[in-house]
Amino acid sequence: MHEFSTAVSIIEAVKRAAKDYGATRVTGITIQIGKLSMLNHDQLLFGLEIAAKDSVAEGAKITIEPLSIKIRCNQCATESVVSQEGALYEVLSSLTCPKCNARDINVIQGRECVVKDIQAVIGDES
Ligand SMILES: [Zn+2]
Repeated sequence: MHEFSTAVSIIEAVKRAAKDYGATRVTGITIQIGKLSMLNHDQLLFGLEIAAKDSVAEGAKITIEPLSIKIRCNQCATESVVSQEGALYEVLSSLTCPKCNARDINVIQGRECVVKDIQAVIGDES
């Protein structure tokens, strides 16, 4: 239930932000999920709906933006986006620098799970 605990912490963050800004209702949440985060988007959405129930974020439109995997080569410092699709372990085991073919690379993007944007109604709603 990795997705559900993630969903709960996302909603907690959204609730904190809503409180900080005096929002009475959250109408939209945009979340960026790296492809390496191992999160199933459907399960995460389901978890978010449950976690948001009876809170300021109930009924908010939730958008998930997938973040591609970005790597940086330790040999030639080239940064590149990994475009191959497929099983994660296959993608990861075949990661090489597109410029010099080195396997000495760092993943610099793709593990994220962040709230990028929150749309909310501030103040009284009539
Ligand atoms: Zn390289």
